[in-house]
Amino acid sequence: MDRLRLATVWLGGCSGCHMSFLDTDEFLLEQADVAEVVYSPLVDAKEYPEGVDVVLVEGAVCNVEHLAMIQRVRERTRLVVAFGDCAVTGNVTALRNPLGGALPVLERAYLRASDPPGAIPEASDTVPELLDRVVPVHAIVPVDAFLPGCPPSGPTIRAALERMIAGEPVDLPGHRIHFGGYGQPPSPDGAEAMPSRAFRGGRPRGD
Ligand code: SF4
Repeated sequence: MDRLRLATVWLGGCSGCHMSFLDTDEFLLEQADVAEVVYSPLVDAKEYPEGVDVVLVEGAVCNVEHLAMIQRVRERTRLVVAFGDCAVTGNVTALRNPLGGALPVLERAYLRASDPPGAIPEASDTVPELLDRVVPVHAIVPVDAFLPGCPPSGPTIRAALERMIAGEPVDLPGHRIHFGGYGQPPSPDGAEAMPSRAFRGGRPRGD
């Protein structure tokens, strides 16, 4: 059986979702016979490859590099997962949107909040050009599944990966579907037996 080709991508996020990915601990090593990580900030791969089965995308789309990357990722990947609240809704990363565009953000950061005032970087190879609005992943490309949480917990990520590796629909129990910080631990009252389809298909509520 071919191994599942798994990737993770880091767009506009704090890396907290990737830190939580590492909280799956030895799980990924145990899956080495059935899954391989072919691209990730955590492995030494420079170019996003063709033929990826599943990608977890952390972060919102904030600049022109993210824009090009997520389009490449979509073209080369069978199942795109919006991984964490920034990818799903914009979340913390989108807090700059009320400032009204890229230029006001740069002026705030480099001029008004800088003492002494600095200068707005102009060379595009220094700082990627910002988009005027930060947007979630599904605003740019179709997304196949949403894994909310800030960040999703290690056990939730593991539960989702187990289903993907098994080729099953990623219907997680309701207690694993939450926005913001870690949800409640697995409930002893049978919540595990009540799968939620909030994870898969369509857009998250309120977006
Ligand atoms: S969802 Fe939370 S943990 Fe993940 S990148 Fe955004 S701010 Fe960081």
